[in-house]
Amino acid sequence: MADEDGRMDRRTFLLQSARALGAIVGGGALGAAIAGGSDDSLVWQIDPDKCIACGNCATACVLTPSAVKVVHDVDICGFCDLCFGFFAEQRPGDTEAAENQRCPTGAIIRNFVEEPYYEYMIDETKCIGCATCVEGCSQYGNGALIMQVRHDRCVNCNECAIAAQCPADAFVRVPADDPYLLRSKKLEEEAAEEQAGAGPLGRETEPSYQPPPQQQPPPWQPTREQSAAGQGFQPEPVSDQAAQGTQPAPEPQPHQPPPAAGNGEADSLQDLIGGDLR
Ligand code: SF4
Ligand code: SF4
Ligand code: SF4
Repeated sequence: MADEDGRMDRRTFLLQSARALGAIVGGGALGAAIAGGSDDSLVWQIDPDKCIACGNCATACVLTPSAVKVVHDVDICGFCDLCFGFFAEQRPGDTEAAENQRCPTGAIIRNFVEEPYYEYMIDETKCIGCATCVEGCSQYGNGALIMQVRHDRCVNCNECAIAAQCPADAFVRVPADDPYLLRSKKLEEEAAEEQAGAGPLGRETEPSYQPPPQQQPPPWQPTREQSAAGQGFQPEPVSDQAAQGTQPAPEPQPHQPPPAAGNGEADSLQDLIGGDLR
């Protein structure tokens, strides 16, 4: 209690100091909770539509190797023979030799399914989260290879060290019971919403997300047949549509993935990414 001169006795000082300290500690905890760090119902995840495959995920994580891995969203994979997530753009040949591969650690496994399809699986023990394959797949393929925080590794830091360095604001908080942001799931949800919102005449609205059409190999890239014949790339003749300034329709993509290769065990996303996708 303060005396007549405004001075506090020792007991009152200690009591008030303890209250102030409690307020500071309590305020800090509240701040952390507001920041999302102590909220176990939310976890960090990467929005694949924002990620620009800059490569920071490999080195910025507090864990080594990073808790971010590439995930293969099998449901939208084209099972391409010439997959640019797997093959380097500039390479001496089209075999699966290490020098022809894009991944620096050999973490992508390529299996023949049936002509002309191949399946691609990720060995997560080798993946360092460098995003090199993501860049290739999104540039020339369907965008089936995406970066994701793997929750069997991530320690859910209060402030994710990668989020602080991500140049694309791709790190977001998502519900812990639904912690992955797959493009295939988003497409499914949009299709369901579209169906539910179809008008009385059955007219449907345009979905907001369209997967990029699979593109042809870049001009400097010989096709497999040309490589075998020792020829360089010959550009396609300009179509009438192109000459008139319109774009030809993208080539149709295979809608149904072919049966899994060999032993038929890899028939789900969880099997294909080789880990516990929870
Ligand atoms: S830091 Fe961001 S933009 Fe870069 S690879 Fe990771 S998620 Fe993608
Ligand atoms: S993210 Fe990097 S290390 Fe992982 S599979 Fe892709 S290229 Fe290989
Ligand atoms: S929350 Fe922590 S452990 Fe998880 S990805 Fe970010 S930095 Fe790595």
